[in-house]
Amino acid sequence: MAGMGRIITADDVRELFEVQHGRPLEIGNAIGSLFTNKKKWEYVGRVRSKRPSSHTRYVSQWQLKQAYRPAPAKFEVGVENGVRFCLTCSLETEACTCPK
Ligand SMILES: [Zn+2]
Repeated sequence: MAGMGRIITADDVRELFEVQHGRPLEIGNAIGSLFTNKKKWEYVGRVRSKRPSSHTRYVSQWQLKQAYRPAPAKFEVGVENGVRFCLTCSLETEACTCPK
C-alpha cells in the first residue's frame, strides 16, 4: 500500500493487517521496527494515533523512498467490442489522464 510513496504510519499497517487477515495484529510497539530501515523509509513527520489504546500519542509517519517504489503502473486501457476505454474512469479513450 505504501508502494507508490503514500505516507503511512504503524496505525495504517495495523489497519491493513486487520482488513487482510480478519484479526488484529498481535505485536505491540515492535511494529515500529518495520520502519527502522532508514535506507528504505524516510521519516516525514508525526500525527496523533488513531488507535484508542494509544491514547492519541503521536505516531511517526513514513514514506517509502523513491528507489524502493515500484515503477508506476502504465496507463491501463481495456478493450470492449473494439472500443478502448480507461480502466479507471471508464471513459472511451486512447490515453486517459484522469487522476488515479
Ligand atoms: Zn481515465
